Amino acid sequence: MDEQRPVIVWYRNDLRIDDHEPLRVANQWASGRVIPVYCVDPRGWEDSPLGFCRTGARRTQLLIESLRDLRASLRALGSDLVIARGRPEVELPRIASETAARAVMYHEEATTEEREVERALDLALDGVTRRAFWGHTLYHRDDVPFAIDELPEVFTHARKKMEKHATIRPPVDAPVELDPLPAGMQPGELPTLDELGLVEPERDLRAAFSPRGGEAAARDRLEAYFFAGDHLREYKETRNGLVGLNYSSKFAPWLSMGNISPRRIAWEVKRYERERVSNKSTYWLIFELIWRDYFRFLAAQQGSQLFEREGIQRTRYKWSEDREAFERWRTGRTGVPFVDSNMIELARTGFMSNRGRQNVASFLAKTLQIDWRWGAWWFESALLDYDPCSNWGNWQYVAGVGSDPRDRKFNVIQQGRRYDEWARHIKLWLPQLADLPAPCAHEPWRMNRQQLAGRFGVRIGVDYPEPMVEDEWMGIVQVG
Ligand code: FAD
Repeated sequence: MDEQRPVIVWYRNDLRIDDHEPLRVANQWASGRVIPVYCVDPRGWEDSPLGFCRTGARRTQLLIESLRDLRASLRALGSDLVIARGRPEVELPRIASETAARAVMYHEEATTEEREVERALDLALDGVTRRAFWGHTLYHRDDVPFAIDELPEVFTHARKKMEKHATIRPPVDAPVELDPLPAGMQPGELPTLDELGLVEPERDLRAAFSPRGGEAAARDRLEAYFFAGDHLREYKETRNGLVGLNYSSKFAPWLSMGNISPRRIAWEVKRYERERVSNKSTYWLIFELIWRDYFRFLAAQQGSQLFEREGIQRTRYKWSEDREAFERWRTGRTGVPFVDSNMIELARTGFMSNRGRQNVASFLAKTLQIDWRWGAWWFESALLDYDPCSNWGNWQYVAGVGSDPRDRKFNVIQQGRRYDEWARHIKLWLPQLADLPAPCAHEPWRMNRQQLAGRFGVRIGVDYPEPMVEDEWMGIVQVG
């Protein structure tokens, strides 16, 4: 009799049907009688401590598109996506009771707040089985050769152990058919930006990258980057780029929505290696996905410490709380072009390259010595690909309070010269500097001011800000 009762699949940051174990197991348990549910949880649109909406408009748009795409995929299988509004620990027990569901299945998360929701759900589900699956990483938690509590502190040690002793499980296929929702059950409307208090963000034509949310778009991007464009073969050489679509995979927004799984990407890398070439670049994409795994394991290990100012090292630095200086950083008005161009790109598009992120984070935390969490909160709101584990783990790492702590500080001028030699990125996002010779665009304050104004029409302090730090503060140690 129990087999007649449906099973709820609770969708979270895993908006896909491919390689989705909860969906597959629910389908097996309930012989097709699956109820896929997504909860629009108002907590996701509250403000973080500095007043930034936790999910900014660009990422919300990506989410809405992902939900639309998931609904279309589920409809094609015969089912639908139920959109509930409210807290999962309230909505899921309600739906379970209304439909006499026998279980709720979902992908478990690693970070504190998400795990608290899981615990609250557990308490609220009375007589309904709860089954959580680990599914966001390349390597399954149960396959890595260490307990999460014993995760090596240095990434390289963890990676080597994983590579030596663990294998990546094959992705699981999507179901071919599902039953319709129970009779009379209303699937509900997709959320809108307006309902969440947001306005449609402007499109900046300079953006090389404006992803559409959803599984179909994620697969299109993979196909274009790996196979049609054949870019994977040179990923290791191009991945530090700053301008354009194809210097890196741009998979991150789809990975953070769970529109594609890292295992599916790894499987496609293997296919590429069979059909095209197997080289350092094909390995390097997997290497980067292992970084992603590492930060998720770290989040599971560290709990709320991931979000604490002292970091997982519990280091007591003296952090500045200069809000005005922070605002100059946030809005791209530091007077240091390589920092400003990256911050403006983030604000205008929701994306910034990895090289850019490392430099702007180092500038905030190590040069300005401003509380690194402020930067992490801004990234949380602004990034299309925000992922709590990767964001907070990387911020801690750069701020020197996280894993593998060393006192690194980027010399942002040298970094800019090295990775943006012709100042293409600077000139794209700071058009007032477009006519300057590349070396001057990196350090306009060094030019003769009369010449700068007369020949290039740039008045420091009027058209472009004075640098907010002295030369010697720009960076002492060259890294990366
Ligand atoms: P590619 O270079 O093509 O890499 C492929 C994939 O590997 C990425 O999509 C990502 O999933 C993973 N990856 C690559 N580098 C890292 C890394 N350092 N840490 C973790 N995973 C990595 N990444 C996020 O996905 N979400 C975040 O919120 C985020 N915040 C960051 C904050 C800071 C301060 C820094 C320095 C890095 C952050 N990153 C974050 C990591 C990295 O910058 C992005 O994953 C990458 O730039 C996304 O572009 P891509 O998909 O083209 O990456």
